[in-house]
Amino acid sequence: MSVFAAAKIVFFSVLLHLFYLFLTFAADYEQNTLLSMTSTQCLIIGSGPAGYTAAIYASRANLQPILIDGPQQGGQLTLTTEVENFPGYPDGVQSFQMMDDLRRQAERFGTRFVSGIVTRVELGKKEENGSIKHHLFLETEEEYVADSVIIATGASAKWLGLPSEKEFMGRGVSACATCDGFFYRGKTVAVVGGGDTACEEATYLAGLCQKVYLIVRKNYLRASEIMQQRVFNNPKIEVLFEHNTKQLTGENKVQGADLIYRKDTPDEQIRHIDIDGFFLAIGHQPNTRLFASYLDLDEEGYIQTIGNSTATRIAGVFAAGDCADPHYQQAVIAAATGCKAAIDANNYCKTLS
Ligand code: NDP
Repeated sequence: MSVFAAAKIVFFSVLLHLFYLFLTFAADYEQNTLLSMTSTQCLIIGSGPAGYTAAIYASRANLQPILIDGPQQGGQLTLTTEVENFPGYPDGVQSFQMMDDLRRQAERFGTRFVSGIVTRVELGKKEENGSIKHHLFLETEEEYVADSVIIATGASAKWLGLPSEKEFMGRGVSACATCDGFFYRGKTVAVVGGGDTACEEATYLAGLCQKVYLIVRKNYLRASEIMQQRVFNNPKIEVLFEHNTKQLTGENKVQGADLIYRKDTPDEQIRHIDIDGFFLAIGHQPNTRLFASYLDLDEEGYIQTIGNSTATRIAGVFAAGDCADPHYQQAVIAAATGCKAAIDANNYCKTLS
């Protein structure tokens, strides 16, 4: 055999080996990609009343929905105790029980639940075959792909934004009386806000604490009449109208608060109260940051839907519940829009086949 022929054999065997390596790598790559990617017709983000109701309807429509729980399984309703205004519970219901009932109902029809937080989205992406898909990525980089997405990410508690609020977080400052009220038995606390949440939290805390201040920035409560009456009839609650919180004071934990009475008026005064706990109940902001570059949001960040539907500006993407509702923010309305979103998603999916 000539040197040239031997070199040719070596060259081709190296080439063959490289080709084999490439095929193995490509197969591994494809397998890994497939392993971390799950496809379905309908993805639901959020596990509050909107998400669970969407799941019940989407699974009954055979969309084989996958519901991604988000950071708070059961949504913000689980931060409260008893729900008295959801139709069908004449004696009220514990919020955990209600959310568990909704979850089990969705499970019964085949909804698949995933524990995780969506950290990145690619909505309305054109695939190689020309179809439009929506991609969601979890914090683990697991990828979910679907024809339709129902966003039901709800809203989270707002904070005043005081430096001392951050300083005392978890050491006297809380946004959830139900979660943390127990630690303040027999003590004095303050609740900030004048809406239903503030009145509910103040009433709840009055059942545990020696005294509750309700700090209200206006000279009236925004809460419903029944909630107001509960507050006014409770001898342990003192309502401080026209007060704003200037700062929290204390060493290592909340021991007091400096309040401003009639801020920016000739009557302005600083008042100090001694407290052990400070609870925020000043409303919520929508959890929609992830979608800001894709969808139309209003100035407060709520997702804007089209007409009387749950459709957004991206075909196949729907929004339900508090993330798209700056006005009502009621569990029953969230549930109803979850139902609408599933019907809208089903109608959309039908147009694809
Ligand atoms: P709301 O938006 O109704 O009320 C927020 C309150 O916080 C208002 O009184 C507002 O004052 C005050 N506030 C806002 N920002 C500040 C600030 N920076 N400093 C001081 N005060 C501030 O929120 P809620 O969470 O109370 O209620 C949301 C929705 O949920 C409502 O529709 C309510 O009816 C519903 N809900 C129903 C319940 C039930 O039926 N069991 C229980 C809880 C909530 P201002 O009035 O001056 O704007």
